[in-house]
Amino acid sequence: MSDKMDFREIDENEERKTDIVETVEETVGDDEGYEKYCFLCHRPESVAGKMIDLPNNMSVCSDCMNKSFEAMNNTPIDISKLMNTPGVQFLNLSDLDSVFPKQQRVKRKKEGEKTAPALNIKDIPAPHKIKGQLDEYVIGQEHAKKAMSVAVYNHYKRVATDTMDDIEIEKSNMLMIGPTGSGKTYLVKTLARLLDVPLAIADATSLTEAGYIGDDIESVLSKLLAAADNDVEKAERGIVFIDEIDKLAKKRNASQRDVSGESVQQGLLKLLEGSEVEVPVGANSKNAMVPLETINTKNILFICGGAFPDLEEIIKERLNKHSSMGFIADLKDKYDNEKDILSKVTVEDLRKFGMIPEFIGRLPIIFTLQGLNEDMLVKILKEPKNAILKQYQKLLALDEVKLEFDDEALRTIAEKAMKKDTGARALRSIIEEFMLDIMYEIPKDDNIGMVTITKEYIEGKASPLITMRGQARITG
Ligand code: ADP
Repeated sequence: MSDKMDFREIDENEERKTDIVETVEETVGDDEGYEKYCFLCHRPESVAGKMIDLPNNMSVCSDCMNKSFEAMNNTPIDISKLMNTPGVQFLNLSDLDSVFPKQQRVKRKKEGEKTAPALNIKDIPAPHKIKGQLDEYVIGQEHAKKAMSVAVYNHYKRVATDTMDDIEIEKSNMLMIGPTGSGKTYLVKTLARLLDVPLAIADATSLTEAGYIGDDIESVLSKLLAAADNDVEKAERGIVFIDEIDKLAKKRNASQRDVSGESVQQGLLKLLEGSEVEVPVGANSKNAMVPLETINTKNILFICGGAFPDLEEIIKERLNKHSSMGFIADLKDKYDNEKDILSKVTVEDLRKFGMIPEFIGRLPIIFTLQGLNEDMLVKILKEPKNAILKQYQKLLALDEVKLEFDDEALRTIAEKAMKKDTGARALRSIIEEFMLDIMYEIPKDDNIGMVTITKEYIEGKASPLITMRGQARITG
């Protein structure tokens, strides 16, 4: 290898090579809309400029290529001598074939074209219509559904108009506070499905400051990008739901560096507000050997949710203090029996809980969900469009068997679920437990026409009522 390389020669060679690659890509056809990324600095072609192709589907940008050659030329070691030294081996790129998987590609951002916004203002249903749709799936939680419908309506109206004049409409990021199993995730999932936008659900507890074990904060956007089939434009209009956000509260007496709590809140700030973020495609860390894509979070709707245990105590304390300062001091336990104390939450309470003010400030819509009571659980069993009972009824209907539940049976299931204290989440596990036998036994006998689930069956005291085809009901 000569000390001074003729760069022009390389460039010409590379140009010829890229020409060949391009013609191959043209014939393959399905590469349209995808771009290469630099194997060394992970920047895509649209950012780093024309790529130089290497064997094994690898590409390197000209910056990195130049840097590599400079590094080689500046080294005091004579590489040509080294090559003949016993024991010194040079890397053969074609040997890497088995080491590196086929190159991952990134969908190219469409440039210049001004397409009509997918969400036209007229297309965004009015808040009462959004709520009406949510009502079909989500039982109760009237206030939460209302708050959410208005926030989503405003958010997408803002996205569609793209107002950048003097009155810029603020982002409608939300914070949902409610006990476990009260429907937080379910509300967001239903909403994203109704609006047909990509949704990423992330768990705040798995996030850590970059460089520490755990997922980088940007990984929430990687998930969104994956949900949008790597289509950046689609992802930029999506929804990110971060669950268990209360676990990010400042540790009260932290003696160590808090890499998973307060610093994650800090890290999320720029995402919530709206900024250009470099996101690893298909991985949870920027250090992984994956391409990076730039996503603008300006129009991404962030919804955070958490159960915030002990928040009630903080609210009660504040309310008590407040009232005892008046002329007629209230009883200390005045608020102890109040049911919906959570709905009295203020930003100050959340700050006291351990959320940093900048973080809460970026979630302007705060609302609470109620814990579910027995009546609501009974309704959840049978009323939503995709209610769990309807699902089982449909499954058995495929075998031409009718499935019925006595009202008392439903109430018993709800009672059992209330005891587990995990909200509606307990319902499915209870039902699955006793439906297993039924789903196993019924298809055995073609003559069974109907099964009725009774209270006694749920309590384990009797079998379900079986009705044979064309016969009166008998005990099975
Ligand atoms: P969390 O509040 O802990 O996020 P989820 O939203 O995951 O709870 O609720 C668990 C399951 O319970 C959901 O998948 C849904 O089927 C059911 N569920 C919870 N709340 C409701 C509700 N208000 N209406 C209908 N179904 C609900």
